[in-house]
Amino acid sequence: MACDAAGVAGGVRRVAGTVSEHKAELTNLDREIGDGDHGENLARGFGAVIGKLDAETPDSPGGVLKLVATTLISTVGGASGPLFGTAFLRAATSVGDAGELDGSAVAAALEAARDGVVARGKAEPGDKTMVDALTPAVDAAKAAAEGGGDAAAVLAAAAGAAEQGAADTEPMQAHKGRASYLGERSIGHVDPGARSTAYLLRALAD
Ligand code: ADP
Ligand code: MG
Repeated sequence: MACDAAGVAGGVRRVAGTVSEHKAELTNLDREIGDGDHGENLARGFGAVIGKLDAETPDSPGGVLKLVATTLISTVGGASGPLFGTAFLRAATSVGDAGELDGSAVAAALEAARDGVVARGKAEPGDKTMVDALTPAVDAAKAAAEGGGDAAAVLAAAAGAAEQGAADTEPMQAHKGRASYLGERSIGHVDPGARSTAYLLRALAD
């Protein structure tokens, strides 16, 4: 499938399906080290995104990403709503009005998304947040793009690295967000936002 507006919209629909499938798991992870709303938050947000895509699908990848951004910002709430919203908004700006994205454009969009999350949330790698999934994903995406990978290959590389990055948050102590209130008691649990980021990238890659 080409990484054009229809392809990106299809990926976003798949993200919505994945989020709803894993809603309970994400909420349970957030119950361990947060307030138990992460799955609900994302399911509400991506449910609203589907409603808007059903009404009208924008005619460029950037348009689709911007629709996702504005919808998540207005419907998700919590810490993750503005962070995911910023990620999609920066990705939209990065791809501009291109009609179709190649591997390099996808890697650049992922990097812009990660940089936006860091600028907004001020988390560094190792703080046990979604940044711990996004940062290895960006590194893997850039390497895949430099090796000539197409959009699908770049997203697959990003998803694999994000899955490992999410798993690697388990032994970390949280230094940002609600989980940081737990101090050492945050150790031994996977960060919900890192896990959802990995699901999101895997769904886009698929
Ligand atoms: P809330 O914490 O407000 O209930 P969610 O439960 O939806 O929001 O999202 C929690 C997730 O948000 C965390 O697991 C973490 O990955 C992410 N997060 C929280 N604060 C930050 C931050 N400052 N920078 C990056 N990610 C963050
Ligand atoms: Mg929460």
